[in-house]
Amino acid sequence: MTRDALLLGVDVGGTTTAAGAVTREGAVLVEQRVLTHRDGKGRAPETIIELLGSVREQAERRGHAVEAIGVGVPGPVDPTVGRIGEHVPHVPELAGRALAAELAERFGRPAFVDNDVNALALGEWMFGAGRGAHSLVVLAPGTGFGAGIVLESRLVRGAAGFGGELGHTPVKFDGPPCWCGGRGCLALYASGRGIAEAARARVAGLPDAPLLTAAGGDPRAITAPLVFRAAREGDAVASAVVDEACRALGAMLGAVVNGLNPELIVLTGGVAESLVPLEAQILQRAAEYAFRAALARTRVTIVPGDKRTSMRGAAALAIYEIARAGGGTP
Ligand SMILES: [Zn+2]
Repeated sequence: MTRDALLLGVDVGGTTTAAGAVTREGAVLVEQRVLTHRDGKGRAPETIIELLGSVREQAERRGHAVEAIGVGVPGPVDPTVGRIGEHVPHVPELAGRALAAELAERFGRPAFVDNDVNALALGEWMFGAGRGAHSLVVLAPGTGFGAGIVLESRLVRGAAGFGGELGHTPVKFDGPPCWCGGRGCLALYASGRGIAEAARARVAGLPDAPLLTAAGGDPRAITAPLVFRAAREGDAVASAVVDEACRALGAMLGAVVNGLNPELIVLTGGVAESLVPLEAQILQRAAEYAFRAALARTRVTIVPGDKRTSMRGAAALAIYEIARAGGGTP
């Protein structure tokens, strides 16, 4: 008996790479995860190919053919030439590679590569909180801060693949320098790395700060989850950092609502779980910046993400591109 053809969706992360065989309805039938640098530094492309081969074999053993491959990578991708950009700090060996063409040749199937949060936005749109919407913006604070934009049923990629890099737009125009080269970026205030670094800066010179004690006295052991936990327990330093994160997110929500007024904004990524109890506070901050009538028509939802969501996003990328190549919309 022949079963439905599946999409292979791959999420390449700085630490873990996950691949899944996914139906056109978004169900993950096979999944496998490996350490991105399992085979050593600089060998991620070989690891991705092996992982894809293994997942394809498992899908075929169950009687499914593979229709196409979608891959999300942690950096911008130039859509006009299908080449990964030069800035992939966590998986530098992917920089400049035409991975889609390589995978298409290797597996004899159409293959598509895009920024991981662009793929995530397509996944939320097709299978998740944004199903049925024509416009949505995904804000994904994790270690860094990714984002993706779907407007009028089109993924916004921009001229060089930087469309949707909202994590590195300023929320404080005279703010401190950011690791991206800009200053005052949202990522400095609301990403996992930014929150941890902001807390470290605040406890410097405060040897008795409870947050520092909670980290065993080692500022390097301060992480974003620890900061959120300490804030819930009433720690003043942690509360100030979390309040600033909520204000920064509120300012970005204001910019997105006033600038694009999408039907939906999804806050997801590794930090999202810590944001769930802060939803009212974040929305209150957003109301300080957004037009009231615009905010009233944009639904904001917090959806803690996981690797499975990312795999479905990569599969959604393949579905989206196949439809586009056929001249239609998914
Ligand atoms: Zn930045």
